[in-house]
Amino acid sequence: MSAKTDIPAVQAALTAHYARHARQLPWRRPPGDSRVIDPYHVWLSEVMLQQTTVAAVIPYFEKFVARWPGVTALAVAPDADVLAAWAGLGYYSRARNLIACARRVVADHAGIFPSDLAALQMLPGVGGYTAAAINAIAFDGAAVPVDANIERVVARLFAIAEPLPQAKRPIGLAAASIWPASAGGDFAQALMDLGATICTARAPKCAACPVAAHCAALRTGIAESLPLKAKKAARPARFGRALWHERKNGADREVWLVRRPPRGLLGGMLALPGTGWGEAMPAPAVNATQIGAVRHVFTHFALDLAVDRVTGMADPGEKGGWWPISRLDEAGLPTLYRRAAELALRER
Ligand code: SF4
Repeated sequence: MSAKTDIPAVQAALTAHYARHARQLPWRRPPGDSRVIDPYHVWLSEVMLQQTTVAAVIPYFEKFVARWPGVTALAVAPDADVLAAWAGLGYYSRARNLIACARRVVADHAGIFPSDLAALQMLPGVGGYTAAAINAIAFDGAAVPVDANIERVVARLFAIAEPLPQAKRPIGLAAASIWPASAGGDFAQALMDLGATICTARAPKCAACPVAAHCAALRTGIAESLPLKAKKAARPARFGRALWHERKNGADREVWLVRRPPRGLLGGMLALPGTGWGEAMPAPAVNATQIGAVRHVFTHFALDLAVDRVTGMADPGEKGGWWPISRLDEAGLPTLYRRAAELALRER
C-alpha cells in the first residue's frame, strides 16, 4: 500500500470477501449478523487459539462450552476437571489462567466480562492481544487485535520489511490506519480469515486475493518473504526419566501416577513419576528396565524423556495414586506423559 492507497476500497473489498467466504467457526456469528456474541465464547476461543490451530481447538471449544456453558459454571469447576479437559491442547499455563480468570470475572465483575481494554487486561492470562480481540469481537469496540494472521497480511499489504519483533509497532500502526470506524470485530475476522486461507505463510494465493490491487509486497515481489523474523536462538536440550510402575489389581492393571506441583510446567496435572529435567540424562534406577524415550518440544527447550519400567517396588516413592490402565484416557495426562504411557504400553 502507499500514501495514495484507497483505504475505503480495501475495507470494502475485505468486507465483501468476508461476507461470502467467512469461515464458520463455533465461536463466531455469521458476517453481518447483529446478534451479540457471548464474550465468554470469544475469550475461551482466543485463549485456546494461542499457539494452537483452529482445527485442534474446535473439539476442545465444543467440549468446554457443553460442559461449562458460561463463565460462572467454569469458575466453580474443580481445577483437576478443567486441567483434565484441557489435556492434549498443550501450554498448560493457559488452563490454569483460564480457571483463575473465570474466578476473577465472577468475583470482581459479577460473572460478566468487562468490555474495556484496561479492565480486560487486569484479568489473569489476558494480554494485550486477547483483550483487544474480546473488545473488538464481542463488544464491537475500537480495539485493533493483531494476531499472527493479521500481522502477516498487514506486513505484506504495506511491505513492512523490518524483522519481527521490531516490526510489531509499524504493523500495529498500519493495521490501525485501515481499521473501519465500526464493525471492527468483523473486520478483524475478515483479516484473520484472509491470512488463514489466502495470504498464507507459504505460497500466498495472491491471484485469489481480494486486496491484491492494493498490496505493496505483491507489487515488489517480496510477499512470501514477509514478515521477516529475527533469527531464534537454538532451543536448549533437557533430559529426564519417567517411571512406568504397574501392578495387577483383580482383572485390571494399574499404573502409579503423581500430580505435578501446582506451579511450573504442566503444573497441577497428573503425570508419570520420575526424575527432574536437567542438562544431562540421569542414570536409570537399579531396578529399572529401559523401554525407550519420547521427545517433546516445549517453548523454551526440547525434552528427551526416557521411559523406564520399574518392578518390585513396594512403595512407588512419590506422592501419588494407582490409576486403572483401562481408564488411562480419563486421567487427562498432558501430551508428553500420554506419549510416554503409549510407549510403555506398546513395549509391554
Ligand atoms: Fe497477501 Fe498476496 Fe493478498 Fe498481498 S496480494 S495480501 S501477499 S495474498
